[in-house]
Amino acid sequence: MTKTAQTVWDNCLSFIQDNITPQAYKTWFEPINAVKLADAALSIQVPSKFFYEWLEEHYVKLLKVALNKELGENAKLVYVIKMENTYGNNQPFTEKIPSANRSAMKSQEVDAPFKNKNPELKNPFVIPGIRNLQIESQLNPNYNFDNFLEGDSNRLARSAGMAVANKPGGTSFNPLLIFGGVGLGKTHLAHAIGVQIKDKYPDKTVLYISAEKFTQQYIESVKKNNRNDFIHFYQVIDVLIVDDIQLLSGKAGTQDVFFHIFNHLHQNGKQVILTSDKAPVDMQDIEQRLLSRFKWGLSAELQHPGFETRISIIKHKLYQDGVEMPEEIIEFLANNIKTNIRELEGAIISLIAHSSFNKKEITLDLAKKIVENYVKHTKREVSIDYIQKIVSDYFQMDVETLQSKTRKRHIVQARQLAMFFAKKLTKASLASIGSQIGQRDHATVLHACKTVDNLASTDKQFRKYVEDLRKKLAV
Ligand code: ADP
Ligand code: MG
Repeated sequence: MTKTAQTVWDNCLSFIQDNITPQAYKTWFEPINAVKLADAALSIQVPSKFFYEWLEEHYVKLLKVALNKELGENAKLVYVIKMENTYGNNQPFTEKIPSANRSAMKSQEVDAPFKNKNPELKNPFVIPGIRNLQIESQLNPNYNFDNFLEGDSNRLARSAGMAVANKPGGTSFNPLLIFGGVGLGKTHLAHAIGVQIKDKYPDKTVLYISAEKFTQQYIESVKKNNRNDFIHFYQVIDVLIVDDIQLLSGKAGTQDVFFHIFNHLHQNGKQVILTSDKAPVDMQDIEQRLLSRFKWGLSAELQHPGFETRISIIKHKLYQDGVEMPEEIIEFLANNIKTNIRELEGAIISLIAHSSFNKKEITLDLAKKIVENYVKHTKREVSIDYIQKIVSDYFQMDVETLQSKTRKRHIVQARQLAMFFAKKLTKASLASIGSQIGQRDHATVLHACKTVDNLASTDKQFRKYVEDLRKKLAV
């Protein structure tokens, strides 16, 4: 049987495959094509100069052994670099590197006619010195599904994430776009998916990256003139997770390169997971073609967690830290920090810290002080509706009664208290407060505020109402 480039290379490959990890084999050998055999010189085509350098640095010995077995002591290896110009010019062209004499097996300076001659061209995710090549997934194992508590606010996103994790690239959720406000668990969920995939499919290349870092890397690659290597690196990934994709807004170059990477991955059945702080429709300065890609799969929202979920998140956190806290304080926290789980955690941590540094018990007062810091930072504004709800609950009446035209004294007082707190706690004008609390005019509201001030300083029972309500409204 006569030897061809293909048969020689196939034999080399099966030898190589037995000697390295499947991951490394897939990344660095599968993309190679054998293109020519002349005497004892085998030409192989590699996707980029980076690729060639990587092979030289890491696999030259292995290649030599494999080649010697096939072609004898005089075997030579010639690299041909395939330069794919993804930008505009669709014709791949090849350039030859002068044949390097592999029997000497010394890494020769290759004087290839490229612009790209940067010697420090490196994959940013490879741990140097490790034989078995691994692309570090950049995943945080502390963010997993076990500690991503389920609630109504995240059920869809969480279960879509689970589905993707069990069958990456194999569901219609591709891309999976997780969106929602700050501190609602986008990053956590994105990591959890990646962590689970790594667990189930250790051979899959998973990469987590923030859109910000992706942008930096891209800019760097343009500066160093190795954009193709950058693209190539991302194209070999099986599961790409890009966090905070809204940060690509206004960055045309990065969007363009991401578009190409996305298409390549998607076409090859690879999974893409994206997060964003906005729904695709609300994203600004993102190219239409990219936006439409985002909508191909599933967009799942993380909403504000309900009371129950907030309670279970707090309890879970306390349990993990081995701290006990009275139920009353847990409820206070859950009632007062509603729109951001990160802040909820922050408040718990500082509460624990304060109490242990100062050797004090965790009390409701301490909790209030701490929550105040958080609430101030977030400039939480209560709504007039919320005030009316709290006041009517307190007096055990419904909101309609509070707003009604009746002159019954306790109802009038409740209404006046609602107006008083609306004036104190919101930026609404007297007129607007009046119109929202039972269609009254601004003079009525003004009168209510004065009456509450007066009564609070003269009537003990009334003062207690004000105090209680102040606490309930957490001010
Ligand atoms: P985002 O990326 O949306 O701003 P993060 O993923 O950083 O939010 O989440 C903020 C914090 O809240 C993290 O510490 C995360 O672990 C926690 N968190 C969010 N959602 C949950 C959840 N469902 N269960 C437990 N912890 C959560
Ligand atoms: Mg995040």
